[in-house]
Amino acid sequence: MILTQCAVCATELGLSLGKKCGRCSTRYCGAACQVQHWKEGGHDKLCKQIKRSGGAEQYNANEKYTEAVTVAAEACAEDTKGQTCFICTQALHWKTKEGLVRGCSCRGTAGFAHVSCLAEQAKILFDEAEENNLDEKPLNERWARWHTCSLCEQNYHGTVRCALGWACWKTYVSRPETDRAWGSAMTQLGNGLDDANHNEDALSVREAELSMLRRLGAPEDRILIVQTNVAGTYARLGRLEEALQIEWDVYSGNARLYGEEHPSTLIAANNYADSLTSLERFEEAKALLRATIPVARSVLGDDHRLTLRLRWHYARALYENTSATLDDLRDAVTTLEDTDRTARQVLGGTHPTTMGIECGLREARDALAVRSVCEAVDAANLH
Ligand SMILES: [Zn+2]
Ligand SMILES: [Zn+2]
Ligand SMILES: [Zn+2]
Ligand SMILES: [Zn+2]
Repeated sequence: MILTQCAVCATELGLSLGKKCGRCSTRYCGAACQVQHWKEGGHDKLCKQIKRSGGAEQYNANEKYTEAVTVAAEACAEDTKGQTCFICTQALHWKTKEGLVRGCSCRGTAGFAHVSCLAEQAKILFDEAEENNLDEKPLNERWARWHTCSLCEQNYHGTVRCALGWACWKTYVSRPETDRAWGSAMTQLGNGLDDANHNEDALSVREAELSMLRRLGAPEDRILIVQTNVAGTYARLGRLEEALQIEWDVYSGNARLYGEEHPSTLIAANNYADSLTSLERFEEAKALLRATIPVARSVLGDDHRLTLRLRWHYARALYENTSATLDDLRDAVTTLEDTDRTARQVLGGTHPTTMGIECGLREARDALAVRSVCEAVDAANLH
């Protein structure tokens, strides 16, 4: 999605290979594609314009940003009818004429805005933080405006998150790749693309980010975070074996770096176990979760979202197994009833984790009912 391919034949070039147009930096696999692009691909007309906008990456980011804003405003049109932007107070943006969006947890008349206004606000806040050399914590808090609503403090989602991902990338793309904001902007873009279900595009961004970090010799904790994102995108694409491979690396990497009791290690164990279950490797998933759950309970507590998720996934590893015993299925139902009670109290009924647990509970009860009937029939047949 960011430009990792030849502009003509789509040969993979990563972030640095290939031959660049001397004026606008559009990249090609070689001279033949470059010549063809100039003569027949319209590059003779576009080259100057691309150069003026800041080069091929910047030009592409600007274009994609404009498209993404249109998509987000259209998706939000029904919800935003008759509202105004809480930043510029207008319905239509004075300059871009874009419509309003809302993609967080704001309710009522709160939280309507233009993507351009949200982006401008985030940019100004982060610029200030950099100018004043703020510490890591306030710097990160300001960076959060690229992905979290300042009013309801919840993440943006869907097309709005995607448009803000492009906004962020467009803002920092021209910085050197050693600049922290450049890499963080790539992460935001990957997250936004994933959130809007552009998983293939997200994968190419995430893989580019990972290879960039490796090339720059980035610290292991940073690489582990990006690897986690790569694995998540693989899983969403249904490429489970590849996801599993990376999740194992992330799990063992975190355990080595931080120890078994660290929340990052527990999160990684949960991801790895979940993929094992999806691949029907139930025994391995159960063994890992049996070892991890007591650690999570003592370190994080029974009420913690991650503890709840680990127990939910343990139950899933029990009831999805077609050779589960009646006792396994009863264990799964009891575990889910218990986690459901806690999740409702702590997270509320509409939280995705609570809804996931309840969906699991229905499936586990169904599996138990079916198995009970089968066993009764078997028993009757024996007599
Ligand atoms: Zn080519
Ligand atoms: Zn050019
Ligand atoms: Zn506005
Ligand atoms: Zn909000």
